[in-house]
Amino acid sequence: MAAVTRFSKPSAISHVRRCLYSSSAVAAESNQHAPSPFGDYKITRRNPSERNVQWVFLGSPGVGKGTYASRLSNLLGVPHIATGDLVREELASSGPIAKQLTEIVNQGKLVSDEIIISLLSKRLKAGEAKGESGFILDGFPRTINQAEILKGVTDIDLVVNLRLPESVLIEKCLGRRICGQCGKNFNVASIDVKGQNGSPAICMAPLLPPSSCMSKLVTRSDDTEEVVKERLRIYNEKSQPLEDYYRNQGKLMEFNLPGGIPESWPKLLEALNLDEFDERQSVAA
Ligand code: ADP
Repeated sequence: MAAVTRFSKPSAISHVRRCLYSSSAVAAESNQHAPSPFGDYKITRRNPSERNVQWVFLGSPGVGKGTYASRLSNLLGVPHIATGDLVREELASSGPIAKQLTEIVNQGKLVSDEIIISLLSKRLKAGEAKGESGFILDGFPRTINQAEILKGVTDIDLVVNLRLPESVLIEKCLGRRICGQCGKNFNVASIDVKGQNGSPAICMAPLLPPSSCMSKLVTRSDDTEEVVKERLRIYNEKSQPLEDYYRNQGKLMEFNLPGGIPESWPKLLEALNLDEFDERQSVAA
């Protein structure tokens, strides 16, 4: 059974939206004279009832943020924006900062706020030009400083914190594969951890690719055991404080993943008061 801290039904989303009205006004006021770290790009701070959801996914490397965030983005009709993907696109483009980024990423370190915010604002700007409204952010913010910068430019409605024990995270990172053609994520790890000392058993079947992707699978260069351990250490040091940061703002929803997608996905939807057939319109109500 998933241990879920829930907002009381039926108003999970309207609850977080209510919290926002006050905080956004304060943030907007306190930041109106400060130069924006987002440079020229200003995210339009819109009333939550006039835009799509603005959610953040938190969770250690390998927890499955990308998988769940991407499924939710399809369901809600909002873009899934993963800063890790933006970094990897920049690496693949061999642009001017690619060499510097390769070194940082392959050591499991964090990219500077300046670079990551520049990549994110470019992505948001391009999305806005296409008429995108709302987002699910995955991998940003990763530090309190990034969260403060984000708060200065827009409002986050809800932060979903996915959790798994560390031993499972390492196995999952090492089992991660990406289709070099379609970009979809898969996982060849078969997780079967017996429950002991009060902690529940964790069983996850591999998430295998369709035969069309099978011969195109690649492993991320930063998914080696040494680098994964460093990323987990950095996550615990720099990103975990975000849990308290958003908990104190009443925006954090914690979700322990009890198993693989077939078990956890319906439970996550239930915790979010969504169902497979909910389209975006019913969430906006
Ligand atoms: P993970 O599986 O560790 O969550 P991601 O795909 O989110 O990895 O990110 C890959 C790498 O991209 C990170 O290790 C880091 O170097 C860089 N990165 C991604 N997002 C950020 C961010 N918000 N701040 C700094 N660096 C980031």
